[in-house]
Amino acid sequence: MRGMYIEKTYGELVTQIEQLKLLLSEAQETIEAIRRGEVDAFIVKNNNVPEVYTLKSSDQTYRIFIEKMTEGAVTISREGIILYCNTSFANMLDLPLTKVLGQSFENFIPDGYKDAVSRLIAIAWAEECKAEIILPGKNKNPIPVLLSLNTMEIAGGLAMSIIITDLSSQKNAQEELKQKNAQLEQAQLITKKMNDELEQTVRERTNELYKSREHFKFLADNIPAIVWTASPDGEMDYFNKRWYDFTGKDYVQVHKEFRLFIHPDETDAYQNLWNKAISTGTPFELVHRLKDGNLEYRWHFSQALPFRNDDNDIVAWFGISTDIDEQKRALEKKDEFISIASHELKTPVTSIKGYVQLLRYNFQQEGNSHAADLLTKADVQINKLTSLIGDLLDVSKIENGQLLYHEEKFDFNELVKEIIEETERVTKHPIKCELAATCTISGDRNKIGQVITNFIDNAGKYSPTGAVINIKTVNRKTSISLYVQDYGLGIPKDQQAKIFERFFRVNSEKENTYAGLGLGLYISAEIIKRHKGSIGVESEQGKGSIFNFELPII
Ligand code: ADP
Repeated sequence: MRGMYIEKTYGELVTQIEQLKLLLSEAQETIEAIRRGEVDAFIVKNNNVPEVYTLKSSDQTYRIFIEKMTEGAVTISREGIILYCNTSFANMLDLPLTKVLGQSFENFIPDGYKDAVSRLIAIAWAEECKAEIILPGKNKNPIPVLLSLNTMEIAGGLAMSIIITDLSSQKNAQEELKQKNAQLEQAQLITKKMNDELEQTVRERTNELYKSREHFKFLADNIPAIVWTASPDGEMDYFNKRWYDFTGKDYVQVHKEFRLFIHPDETDAYQNLWNKAISTGTPFELVHRLKDGNLEYRWHFSQALPFRNDDNDIVAWFGISTDIDEQKRALEKKDEFISIASHELKTPVTSIKGYVQLLRYNFQQEGNSHAADLLTKADVQINKLTSLIGDLLDVSKIENGQLLYHEEKFDFNELVKEIIEETERVTKHPIKCELAATCTISGDRNKIGQVITNFIDNAGKYSPTGAVINIKTVNRKTSISLYVQDYGLGIPKDQQAKIFERFFRVNSEKENTYAGLGLGLYISAEIIKRHKGSIGVESEQGKGSIFNFELPII
């Protein structure tokens, strides 16, 4: 043989190399074809006899399947040499297939696992087994894997298949799960703590609530008034002990029955005002009588306020009814006294006035002008007294509903001019007047004149001598308004609403220097009210006031 080669020429050798290269590439193609599953069998000459090798151990379907699967698949021989492996396994190791095939499987097992894996393989030749190990993956990043070892028959004997499952994502998921579990536990701990705190707060609040309820109950039961609460729709749902003491009835008999104890004369007013308060959410106020356990009526002043939550919704009504029977009776006595006193005073004062006028006339006739002047001054004072008595009489009559009105039709401007003329004779204030087109009014001419006089008198009384008084009317076709403006003391804002009340006088040192009973505006308001008009004031303290009324035009 050796001699044969030596005898070959260079050219023959080149040709032979070319042929061998061709054969090699054919062989490589065949191997690739087997790998891709394109070849199921091939013919090999054995001792010049052609033999068919079918690829029994890896038929085409399985090979494709194995190539496509994400798990690594390796077949090793008894000696631990890798006979076959799929691309997934090579990828796991980050090596080309060529560097894996034909190598010892152990080469790819990290040192720490080598012994364990060779023991595993030894066992696996006898029985199928599994184990988790770490493989050095891409950039030496360790990959946790599961090895499943199984023996299998291939042409030429027993081989071992090893399926390598990448457990990274599973491990990551497990790790994540562990972390999530830890977070969950933490959250549970926090929740438990919060729950405990909440329970503690609830316990404390319940305790506080109990205490505050007891406080409220104690306060409500011992307050010298009837206290009640009602739901937002106005149904009464609580009464204090005093209610049951007052009515002499028990809970079942008088619960929610407030209305039934109100005097029949005031039941309608109560119902109307209560309904109005409920529908508008505004405070309720009423003076009325309530029937006690002896079936006697006592005057009460009832008030209720809405209690609102943070959203401004009414959640309850709190009411209080104070027994004002004694005050009311004392007031009635006072009114009675005023009525009697003013009546009793009126006649002697009228007589005195008559005598004074007669005396003055006589002195004038005698030429005793000094005595006549003194009697003129006395007459002025008697007029003031008459006016005060007149006011007191009017108030008594208003209270008893006895103030009589003489209705007539009259020219409004004429009345105003008449009063201005009268006033100008006695006042120390210049009066400026600006009257709108006149109109006809229906009502009591004298009493409306009394209101105008009262406005002008007050304007003079509460402003410095010489300060101008402006009088103006505005004709609004269906109504006429009269304004009396002064540049005097003015009225503090918080007292403006009260000046039309009976006996009310602005409380300050300055006002106290002016004589008066605080009745003029009360009477004026009553007169205007009776004429279906309205009365009002605009004022700024220290700058002056504008009083006005408005009356309907017929
Ligand atoms: P009085 O007899 O006290 O004047 P009124 O009823 O007429 O009674 O007035 C009530 C109160 O209103 C007065 O006491 C005074 O304090 C105040 N008041 C009335 N008019 C004026 C005004 N033009 N300027 C300032 N205060 C006034």
